[in-house]
Amino acid sequence: MDPARCVQCGAHVPERICAYCGTLARPASGVAAQLEALTEFHALLPQADPARQKQLLTTGYFPSHWQALVEAGLQCYPLLRDGEADGVSQVAANRLEAIAMRLRIQGNTPEAQRAIAEFEARVKRFQRAESRLTVIAVGVLLALVGLVIWGVVAFLRR
Ligand SMILES: [Zn+2]
Repeated sequence: MDPARCVQCGAHVPERICAYCGTLARPASGVAAQLEALTEFHALLPQADPARQKQLLTTGYFPSHWQALVEAGLQCYPLLRDGEADGVSQVAANRLEAIAMRLRIQGNTPEAQRAIAEFEARVKRFQRAESRLTVIAVGVLLALVGLVIWGVVAFLRR
């Protein structure tokens, strides 16, 4: 195969997926080609630092065939860590949500329906853990403010 050029960033792409931005550089219309492209895309992630992982997950390859979409959703799972406020988990949750939405539009098989329910439940679980973190952070902040006010009042009353 001749190296194709990435339409997004102009890099040479020897395989299907641009190693720099995660864009699909060769047509992948069948499910087999899309699964291959997806495997290539996810192989880029472990080598990337968190900032690049976020960028890849936001703008990188997004398949269109429902079976490849289900696989793409499952591939988000290892990237999603509940209760961890790192940006990668949030971006992976966004991608999973987008995948569930795309499946909702075009996946009318029972398997796709099951995947939609599972993916949406997973995103909800992540969001709940996230809001719990926020509640804890706000609680700690209020406690600190309370302590400061108490300290000031105690100081003035001396
Ligand atoms: Zn590129």
